[in-house]
Amino acid sequence: MTFPLLDPQPTPASAPWLEACLRRELRVGMCSTCGRAHFYPRAFCPHCHADDVSLAFSAGRGSVYAWTEVQTRNGPYTVAYVRLDDGVTLLTQLGRAPRDAAWSSGARVRVAWAAAPGGQWLPVFEADEGDDP
Ligand SMILES: [Zn+2]
Repeated sequence: MTFPLLDPQPTPASAPWLEACLRRELRVGMCSTCGRAHFYPRAFCPHCHADDVSLAFSAGRGSVYAWTEVQTRNGPYTVAYVRLDDGVTLLTQLGRAPRDAAWSSGARVRVAWAAAPGGQWLPVFEADEGDDP
């Protein structure tokens, strides 16, 4: 499946997250002061404003919150908000749909990876039907 991804422009805040993505490790921001996860990762916690934040591993599993199919001259692709089980929401793209079904809110998904044109791996999601990737 082809994903229309753009090359990200790293910032001091996003570079460590993008470096983890190169290893196909999905990370979320984690605050040591309040213990809550956040996304996108940043230099301070959006919940309590503490600066004691780090990148935590994510299992990369969650569910579709909302999605839409975008029609382009190169074919359609699916954009979605995915709520990770870690408690954060990502704007992403969906790949392999559930067997014998269309996407629906609440559909279980797991992280997959797709490369942007410049080679940066980025998280996309596919149906999680309990089989091995
Ligand atoms: Zn916090």
